[in-house]
Amino acid sequence: MEQLIEDKLIKADKAFSVWKKVPFEERQKLIAKAAEIFKTHSEKFGKIITTEMNKPVSQSIAEVEKSALMMNYYADAENVLKPEKVDSEYRYSEIHYEPKGVILGVMPWNFPFWQVLRFATPAILSGNTVVLKHASICFGSGNVIEQVFLEAGFPEGVFQNLEVGHKEVKEILEHKTIKGVSLTGSEKAGAEVASIAGQNIKKSLLELGGSDAFIVLDDADLDKAAKEGAKARLQNCGQTCVAAKRFIVDEKVEDEFLPKFIEEYKKYIPADPMDKETLIGGMARPDLADDLENQFKKALENGAEIIIPLERISDIEFNPGLIRVQEGNPILQEELFGPLGMVMIAKNDEEALQMANDIPFGLSNSVWTATKERQLFFIENLESGTVNINRMTSSDPRFPFGGTKSSGYGTELSLHALKEFVITKTIVGN
Ligand code: NDP
Repeated sequence: MEQLIEDKLIKADKAFSVWKKVPFEERQKLIAKAAEIFKTHSEKFGKIITTEMNKPVSQSIAEVEKSALMMNYYADAENVLKPEKVDSEYRYSEIHYEPKGVILGVMPWNFPFWQVLRFATPAILSGNTVVLKHASICFGSGNVIEQVFLEAGFPEGVFQNLEVGHKEVKEILEHKTIKGVSLTGSEKAGAEVASIAGQNIKKSLLELGGSDAFIVLDDADLDKAAKEGAKARLQNCGQTCVAAKRFIVDEKVEDEFLPKFIEEYKKYIPADPMDKETLIGGMARPDLADDLENQFKKALENGAEIIIPLERISDIEFNPGLIRVQEGNPILQEELFGPLGMVMIAKNDEEALQMANDIPFGLSNSVWTATKERQLFFIENLESGTVNINRMTSSDPRFPFGGTKSSGYGTELSLHALKEFVITKTIVGN
């Protein structure tokens, strides 16, 4: 391992021995300061995001502002890590929550500030220190985030950005100072990192891909569903784990819903990502655009029909596409991480549910219906970490966020995230 990287790991470990003793409320004050800095500079930081990965700048600014909002949630959060008394015959009868140490974050490029801060904020508030391996195209974002932590007054070493490629992750994760890892990204990266963590008996948390369903039943508000559906698929150029990727439409409203949906969809015309009016820019990298194009071809070869063609207009830009897919098409087993949506037609609620669940992923689903019983049917039976009723998926710091099946394990956001990287220590006896 490069000496500079090893030095940073040792620095993070030394910082941990001091940081773990800082009271929860003092840590919260620093988090509030960092949130203020992110909010004040959201415009400047938003432009860094756009420069690195082409997100339309209005969405980049919103990402930084949402990160500040999330940090403020933790700055005001209840201390759920206080020692808890257990009713027993013993004099000592308590549960303590102790931070684990230095936690590695392996983070992706699709939300270069949000993903990092969503992981790092609760981990740091719990008393851990953090080292970040950001996506290789997002080192600028990683460095800015480190600067903000320092400017807010966090002790040096509490948050550090490591400019390393993914090949170096193994050695870092195996290093004695690292006590756990949180990864957001592809299944492939997740499986590799989790197996290294497992071999070294280190805790891992995985937030991986999804192929969320957006289920439109015959009693839904179709105008709203059409507008939100297009946004749910196409914001961030479709490169969102919780994007709506499969539109499962009740056959009774197919003829009414699809024209509305197509009309909304066609409003997303690729343009300059630095223009605040732009709704959709290019993808983050040309190889990711190649992958999407290949998946489009694969879907068609297996019987998918074109509703709106996916048209490549530059190395990274597409006019967004929409395809009709039948059950059994192998493309349904994959995540489409770009501006290509899939439509499926269901005969009834049971069939819609079965289609929604018949994938390897289980991140978040969205159901559109005005009827309480139908809402409850889907709430109880959808296999996913989140179910949204009459709203598109959008994470909220107050609610837990995480997946099931190949979408990963562990919980981010909410008070639950504070207990992901702690040791639950039992104190018992007389
Ligand atoms: P990756 O999963 O490869 O990248 C995400 C992060 O993991 C990056 O920091 C990357 O580093 C790192 N990484 C990659 N491979 C390994 C490895 N073997 N060991 C340790 N770390 C690793 O995503 P890609 O950028 O290649 O995108 C590919 C696909 O992944 C997308 O099309 C999409 O389907 C999915 N994805 C899902 C995301 C989500 O939010 N769920 C986010 C991003 C991607 P480096 O940049 O150096 O390669």
